[in-house]
Amino acid sequence: MIHSDLAVELRSVSKTYRSGPEPVTGLDRVDLGFAYGTFTAVMGPSGSGKSTLLRSAAGLEGVDDGEVLVDGTRLDGLKDKELTVLRREKVGFVFQSFNLLPSLTAAQNVALPLKLAGKRPSRAEVMSALTSVGLAERAGHRPGELSGGQQQRVAIARALVTRPAVVLADEPTGALDSKSGREVLALLRGLADDAGRAVVMVTHDPFAAACADRVVFLNDGRLSGELDDPAPESVAARMTSLEALAC
Ligand code: ADP
Ligand code: MG
Repeated sequence: MIHSDLAVELRSVSKTYRSGPEPVTGLDRVDLGFAYGTFTAVMGPSGSGKSTLLRSAAGLEGVDDGEVLVDGTRLDGLKDKELTVLRREKVGFVFQSFNLLPSLTAAQNVALPLKLAGKRPSRAEVMSALTSVGLAERAGHRPGELSGGQQQRVAIARALVTRPAVVLADEPTGALDSKSGREVLALLRGLADDAGRAVVMVTHDPFAAACADRVVFLNDGRLSGELDDPAPESVAARMTSLEALAC
């Protein structure tokens, strides 16, 4: 078996939505790799395919053409059950709107992915995930008793409890104030640095993107550029030139 340093790889991936009267491009021949231990930001105008990219990389959505590999495994060769297991074990997903279950405590929300996998989560592994996001003392609180930033940190703990190879976050700071947003960014940065995970984050914020090692830009479902070692100024300049292209 050939080992690669890529936790996720997209090889010439295309996806078209055909539910409406006109076909809509989601992704158009996208080639991208996300290495272990790296933090990548994905940017682009609304409708440019950022969420489609993340869902495709997570195996939440099938693609029409090309290949998606997660931790070296091609998703298109998997049966439904195998895909579910791989997704559960290898991929953590963080949403803008947290998506916690309101009737469950923080600890119960974090334990959920393990329960769904048919495991009996130990208190220690749940508390370890909550401790890693600084919320051990809030284990018994329900989402409604937590701030937005705390809820997003619970959601990150839930994404981490299965020890995934990759963490995909779709605008994770979009609903947060700037202080909570910075805490979430520091956590995501740490997941790449300390835990060696591939972290991929969609964001509209040049300051958030500057926390990443690399920014990839999408436009109309196509990869339209990349920026290594981004700074807020260089990210903003690139976004401005893309917006100018769009009109
Ligand atoms: P972004 O996250 O960059 O805003 P999306 O990936 O959500 O972009 O969407 C890319 C394009 O695909 C848009 O034109 C959007 O309207 C379309 N699209 C996304 N999801 C669906 C869907 N489930 N059905 C039909 N069209 C979709
Ligand atoms: Mg989106």
